[in-house]
Amino acid sequence: MPFKKIADNIKTIQEIAEKTQNLEFKKAILALEKQIFELEKENFELKQALSKQQEFNMQLKDNLCWNLKEDGSKEEVPYCSTCWYDKNKAIPMHVGEYYYTCKVCKNKISNGKEIPATKFII
Ligand SMILES: [Zn+2]
Repeated sequence: MPFKKIADNIKTIQEIAEKTQNLEFKKAILALEKQIFELEKENFELKQALSKQQEFNMQLKDNLCWNLKEDGSKEEVPYCSTCWYDKNKAIPMHVGEYYYTCKVCKNKISNGKEIPATKFII
């Protein structure tokens, strides 16, 4: 793990900074340590996102994400493309009579069925 080596190096540099009693040097080391911590956090989050992406074999079609099974066929229910691409979350769409709807982001996509004219009357 490269972050472990970096942390060890920072510790060594901190010890040197302590010996020199140079305040600017100490401050710079602390700032560097904070930046490395942030990078480590970001790296962890990216790894998690990548792992999530690899659990699925998503194919975008007509603004919907379809998870393809090993035999290449689609699962019955599509996933929300907005949640998948924006938030890296696999949210199954609610299947309505004429629309697929995401309960999380309210994304609404036609399922291809034509809405009869009578349905427009309130
Ligand atoms: Zn959504």
